[in-house]
Amino acid sequence: MLKDLVRPNILALEPYSCARNEFTGEARVYVDANENPYNSDVNRYPDPLQIAVKRKIAALKGVRETQIFLGNGSDEAIDLPFRIFCRPGIDNVVAPAPTYGMYQVCADINDIEYRSVPMKPDFQLDLEGMKARIDDNTKLVFLCSPNNPSGNALRWEDIQWFLDNFRGITIVDEAYIDFSSQPSLLRELDRYPRMMVLQTFSKAWGQAAIRLGMAFAGEEIIRLMNNVKYPYNVNILTQKQALRVLDNIADKDKAVKEILQQRDMLRDRLNTLECVDRIYPSDANFLLVKVYDADNTYKYLLKRGIIVRNRNRVTLCKGCLRITVGTPSENEEIISALKEYKIG
Ligand SMILES: *Cc1c(COP(=O)(O)O)cnc(C)c1O
Repeated sequence: MLKDLVRPNILALEPYSCARNEFTGEARVYVDANENPYNSDVNRYPDPLQIAVKRKIAALKGVRETQIFLGNGSDEAIDLPFRIFCRPGIDNVVAPAPTYGMYQVCADINDIEYRSVPMKPDFQLDLEGMKARIDDNTKLVFLCSPNNPSGNALRWEDIQWFLDNFRGITIVDEAYIDFSSQPSLLRELDRYPRMMVLQTFSKAWGQAAIRLGMAFAGEEIIRLMNNVKYPYNVNILTQKQALRVLDNIADKDKAVKEILQQRDMLRDRLNTLECVDRIYPSDANFLLVKVYDADNTYKYLLKRGIIVRNRNRVTLCKGCLRITVGTPSENEEIISALKEYKIG
């Protein structure tokens, strides 16, 4: 029972009822929400459930609108499961390392123990290690696929183990799925009521500034998220911009195609350079590059005005820089800078 996983205060919650929830439909006079009546583009509260946006996403992804939560970036969709399922000071979550840093930050903020299990050297899950850290108070498992910062997709059989056997919520973060050769887990949404899949407008869609994240899950989980979220968590400017980009899917597809071509090019060229030890396989829009002298290479690039992400001190990433695939000219700049770099 999903109910057994939910914090008692959240189960008992009487959610805030906003004016826009109590009346839906069309009217001539709206005097229910204490808004300024003089029309501008933004004088009315936005749709708290973002139905128009969800309708387009549902059609695109082949899911029901009631299986979608939209939030202020994936950040909100990562934080809400902690607030819904995890009792502070009692419950815990399990995740592999290295992975996306927000999971631990949200755990720490919510006073939830974060159990980090090192991956295998090939950045696949240490399934036995993770199983050993799961106990009766483990409410969430985070799996990022393709994983940040390693770039690889996780093995489906490993993810499936959690979906079949873990009694808590398995959260699969697919922020980079558009760049992956692996299919999305959305196809399994109806089969696993305790799975949550996260996607975002920040990467492939090129909309990082509008802060719009998607969570897909069973209807019971989505209902809980709607009850706990801030009533108007996605503002009208973001909703309008989302509708605009969802009407231009070809633009996103074109950008993804170019980034993938550039990723292959960047990999091939970096592989010929003296300062590069190895490049890990990537299913994302970035490369994890092991160099012989990470800190100095990082500083050298910085001086040339090129900012990469130094992952030298991250679990299993010793010597590694994470490089996002840029435009063709940006990628050329990175390559020519590194070509001139002399290992000190
Ligand atoms: C970039 C990224 C996100 C996106 O976060 P937003 O809050 O939606 O911008 C989510 N998960 C991972 C693993 C990421 O790398």
